[in-house]
Amino acid sequence: MNQSDAGATQIRALVAGNWKMNGLKAALSQALAVDEQLAGAGDAINADVMICPPATMLMVLSELAGKSGLKIGGQDCHVNQAGAHTGDVSAEMLADAGASAVILGHSERRADHGETDKLVCEKVAAAHRAGLTAIVCVGETIGQRQAGLTLGVVARQLTGSLPDGVNAETVVIAYEPVWAIGTGLTPSVEDVAQVHGMIRERLVERFGEEGARMRILYGGSVKPSNAVELMGIANVNGALVGGASLLASDFLGIVDAYRG
Ligand code: PEP
Repeated sequence: MNQSDAGATQIRALVAGNWKMNGLKAALSQALAVDEQLAGAGDAINADVMICPPATMLMVLSELAGKSGLKIGGQDCHVNQAGAHTGDVSAEMLADAGASAVILGHSERRADHGETDKLVCEKVAAAHRAGLTAIVCVGETIGQRQAGLTLGVVARQLTGSLPDGVNAETVVIAYEPVWAIGTGLTPSVEDVAQVHGMIRERLVERFGEEGARMRILYGGSVKPSNAVELMGIANVNGALVGGASLLASDFLGIVDAYRG
């Protein structure tokens, strides 16, 4: 499979690995193996590839992983540039450490830290202030899906989490059904197509041509065995991968869905 097709618009896919709170020094070898293999694959992979390690590994990874075009991202950032916010990391710090993007509004942050759409929206602006691409996560819980609320919930998160004036270079959307994250469950092809189609419509309504070019990733139990099917769905322009991004062989097995 090559590049994703949103109507007439060709969109270069992105496969991003979210390591979450995993990764000691020994795990660097996995990221470096990804870098090495990608370098060997050259132009055969028709996608951008990114690893978002814990903040402790960002700088060393961005310094060591220079063989391929492997991109490095953060997993969250504070709204402010600097200041008295013990334990937090600013977008500027992520950029300084070598990140080109940051995941924002992941369901684990929305659940564990009570992050609202408004806060996520402010964080997107902070990411842009620092020159980072914001990977903005949206997705319904199992209760919301069973109650038939999926499209409304996702549309509301999408509207509330994005500031005006963003474009296809500065924002990537990740649709991640909360119940599919880390569970081995995935929505049906039809369900993914429906949600991604709605997201595309909303993005085009609000951002016009830029909305038509924005990448919409699917996330939630993506693995080598289901990547080709999921990545082949209309308006799926790549993947946000959790568990299967921790091992180079699994992650590369997913990236392989984009081998030309
Ligand atoms: C995630 O948390 O972003 C994710 C997609 O996790 P997993 O692939 O493990 O379901």
